[in-house]
Amino acid sequence: MDCIFCKIAAHDIPAKTVFENERLIAFHDLFPQAPVHVLIIPKVHFSTLNDVPQGESALLGEMMSTATTIARELGLADDGYRLVMNCGANGGQSVFHIHLHLLAGRQMSWPPG
Ligand code: 5GP
Ligand code: ZN
Repeated sequence: MDCIFCKIAAHDIPAKTVFENERLIAFHDLFPQAPVHVLIIPKVHFSTLNDVPQGESALLGEMMSTATTIARELGLADDGYRLVMNCGANGGQSVFHIHLHLLAGRQMSWPPG
């Protein structure tokens, strides 16, 4: 399968990694949309949130809690940050391997575009 995030997870292509364990890897976005823009991904491939079975919901929870850990470690927790997961075409997803965006370092606006 030709998936850029699977290749990052396998260390076949480089990324600026900020966290890694057996199940997850987190790295800086190549085209940051905020002063800090980190992506948290599972090493296993799921194309979209729709493809994650209920039995894997703990993995989604770990992605979320890892994002909070990274935010603390990068000194972002007090000022705040935004977590985003885009799903499918209308959600604005462009890489079809699920990932959680951690955006921080500026005031976010609402509603999102
Ligand atoms: P999406 O639009 O699917 O929610 O987010 C995909 C994100 O992946 C985008 O923010 C994009 O900048 C980022 N991205 C795409 N290709 C690469 C890459 O090769 N390396 C890194 N670090 N980020 C990437
Ligand atoms: Zn993948």
